[in-house]
Amino acid sequence: MADRRKLAAGNWKMNGTTAELSQIDALVAAHGDAGCEVLICPPATLIAPMVARAGGKIAVGGQDCHAAEKGAHTGDISAGMLRDAGASHVITGHSERRADHGESDADVRAKTEAAIGAGLVAIVCVGETLDEREGGRTLDVIDTQLAGSVPDGATGDTVVIAYEPVWAIGTGKVPTTEQIAEVHAHMNARLKERFGDAGDAIALLYGGSVKPSNAAEIFAVDKVDGALVGGASLKADDFGGIIAAL
Ligand code: PEP
Repeated sequence: MADRRKLAAGNWKMNGTTAELSQIDALVAAHGDAGCEVLICPPATLIAPMVARAGGKIAVGGQDCHAAEKGAHTGDISAGMLRDAGASHVITGHSERRADHGESDADVRAKTEAAIGAGLVAIVCVGETLDEREGGRTLDVIDTQLAGSVPDGATGDTVVIAYEPVWAIGTGKVPTTEQIAEVHAHMNARLKERFGDAGDAIALLYGGSVKPSNAAEIFAVDKVDGALVGGASLKADDFGGIIAAL
């Protein structure tokens, strides 16, 4: 069995100004030497100051990148620019990007390739809607998204997968541990089929309404190697409780 990295990743989404950088001081003080990787993905405006403030104790990542290296793409940021600002990771294919910006699996794959090419670890998000779950299509959706969004040559050093059921994001609803176990075992099997041992080494995060009160139960599920956390990553106390459970 592969030794997959353990990662507690926070996604601040479109929240946070310089005033909130103080959350990083509290996180570093409490968890800078945690036994897992700790990552915060703030808005792009905060990446460089957060890197400076974290002093290498906490990794900092982007929430999205463009597939191109540079050019006429007003408002976009390339993977190389994130790297230049000090980021080590980037989230690709978050369901909010897929829904709000119409990102297809092919788009996500191109962004993920660009991220890897720039030396970033890509956290590729997949997950079914409520309709898809209720229609019994969860594993088919995951298969399609994994096949379409994860580039050839992915390894445990370049890619992390986050399973985020769309209906669990920001809703307080969490799948049962059996539902999480089924999807994570399925993703691990598919990645092994496609990439062999390198696929087995790809870490699998769960994301969707993770809180300090449910983190330990979720982390006890087989093949859950950490979490991608939205709302509960905004406050160091809450995120600290999740890190402590990993
Ligand atoms: C997310 O946006 O990736 C997420 C998991 O959000 P939340 O933890 O708030 O459900």
